[in-house]
Amino acid sequence: MTVERIDALVVGAGPAGLMAAGSMLRAGRRVVVTEAKPSAGRKLLMAGKSGLNLTKAEPFEDFLAAYREAADWLRPMLAAFGPNDVQDWATGLGQPVFTGSSGRVFPKAMKASPLLRAWLAGLRAEMRLRWRWQGFDGDSLRFSTPDGTRLVRPGVTVLALGGGSWARLGSDAAWMPWLAAEGVELAPIRPANMGFGVHWSAHMARHFGAPVKGCALSAGGRCVRAEFVLSARGVEGGGIYALYRELRDGAALTLDLFPDRTEAEIVARLARRPRGKASRSNHLRKVLGLDGARAGLVNECLRPLPEAAELAAKLKALPLPLAGPRPLDEAISTAGGVTRAAVDQGLMLRTRPGIFVAGEMLDWEAPTGGYLLTACLATGLWAGRHAARWRQDGRDCPVGIGAASG
Ligand SMILES: Cc1cc2nc3c(=O)[nH]c(=O)nc-3n(C[C@H](O)[C@H](O)[C@H](O)COP(=O)(O)OP(=O)(O)OC[C@H]3O[C@@H](n4cnc5c(N)ncnc54)[C@H](O)[C@@H]3O)c2cc1C
Repeated sequence: MTVERIDALVVGAGPAGLMAAGSMLRAGRRVVVTEAKPSAGRKLLMAGKSGLNLTKAEPFEDFLAAYREAADWLRPMLAAFGPNDVQDWATGLGQPVFTGSSGRVFPKAMKASPLLRAWLAGLRAEMRLRWRWQGFDGDSLRFSTPDGTRLVRPGVTVLALGGGSWARLGSDAAWMPWLAAEGVELAPIRPANMGFGVHWSAHMARHFGAPVKGCALSAGGRCVRAEFVLSARGVEGGGIYALYRELRDGAALTLDLFPDRTEAEIVARLARRPRGKASRSNHLRKVLGLDGARAGLVNECLRPLPEAAELAAKLKALPLPLAGPRPLDEAISTAGGVTRAAVDQGLMLRTRPGIFVAGEMLDWEAPTGGYLLTACLATGLWAGRHAARWRQDGRDCPVGIGAASG
């Protein structure tokens, strides 16, 4: 079979791959982008369905801390392209941004489609859609394409194949065995930012879809105040995602249903207005304002209701038993992938010179809040910049390192 020689290849047209392609183009390389799906950026478009959270406006060290043990590794990449750069980049693509009260930054359009359209329109790379990478063949990369199998031998390659969830959008982690066969160290793919199962009783059905507001959630010594949602499968949403690592490690989840009241205040309120003929539920609604999904959770997790002192303690620390993480494919993102030890400081595979890696397929994880996309863009840019300078003889090319936009 003939082998096509090309200058520079990006595999995977998600945020990381498109960023890598842009930086190689600006450095003067001729870039081909291959994408398994019939269109680019499908997960990015899905991310935009619920409001595209691009990044978080907060002091750099606070931002970096969200990546926990990977913070040190990602520091230079996020210093080169951090939250401010993400905002400038989106604005440069004609998508002005705004910052929500929590510091989360969104495009004013909220959706990803106008941003992706503008991004693709400005990218002078050759796009090959329905080109699925299927592993290595000596020095070449093998693709299944609408015209059959093709072999490509690029001068330099950036792999940006995504994590291992939402496989229908393209990122299926099928690449794991191919990289493992090349001696690349890989950490197992695990869910991140995922929901957890709960074995609800039938009484809970009327609360499915309801947000639980005004609670503080605690697990493994961490406490957050954020909403979460009850579903037929269990619990999901911001408050749960913020604690996903502790919960994934098996920590118990407790809810403080009244984070702004002390236990003593709750006891006093319960005592101040006697229950009389009211049902216990009605009494709790009247004296404490406990209703809706929060009342449903109390009935679900605390039957029979104890007397005032014990009840107050439980309302401040209501245990919600979880039945483990929801399946990997449902997770917003995944942990695991190509480890820090497997790549050099430019994100090039140590065992496969000339192949760089970017985005969610690298072994870092972070909570939702814009941290995911920011690190995908930053690692894509970083890998692209280093890849652009790489020659097969191992010497750096004397090409410039351009700005991120365009
Ligand atoms: C529902 C949902 C909401 C989200 N919301 C947000 C949010 O608001 N903010 C945020 O920061 N993050 C969010 N994320 C996460 C974010 O979308 C991802 O972290 C990000 O898209 C990962 O970028 P990536 O380029 O690394 O991978 P991907 O976006 O997954 O792109 C990888 C690309 O590689 C292609 N590919 C895979 N295998 C092959 C192959 N063998 N050959 C060729 N091509 C291949 C895929 O088809 C895909 O196009 C959300 C995710 C989901 C699922």
